[in-house]
Amino acid sequence: MGDYIKREDVLSAFKNAIPDVFEYDTYDELLLDEGISRERCQKIISNIPTADVQKVKHGTWIFDGECGITKCSNCKWSIEEYFTNPNTRKPYVFCPNCGAKMDLEGEE
Ligand SMILES: [Zn+2]
Repeated sequence: MGDYIKREDVLSAFKNAIPDVFEYDTYDELLLDEGISRERCQKIISNIPTADVQKVKHGTWIFDGECGITKCSNCKWSIEEYFTNPNTRKPYVFCPNCGAKMDLEGEE
């Protein structure tokens, strides 16, 4: 897995960065624009600490009608209470055992 950085850290790093490229009006030498060079951008991004992330696991609920159980396709954990709330009948969005996001289509 590669390194990941937070968007807010990138925005903050560039907001606080000191410009090193300047565009002047050649006639009256007024500053028209300022920016950050490609080399400096690379240094700024390289200095942002990496974020602590975990790869998202994906799965789906597999219902076995013969056994009357539902299993997570990712960890094969059987779940008796398939629904978070029996009244709404909404299944768990994440496997309570392995944390897989249940967004895969059909059975694997
Ligand atoms: Zn699972």
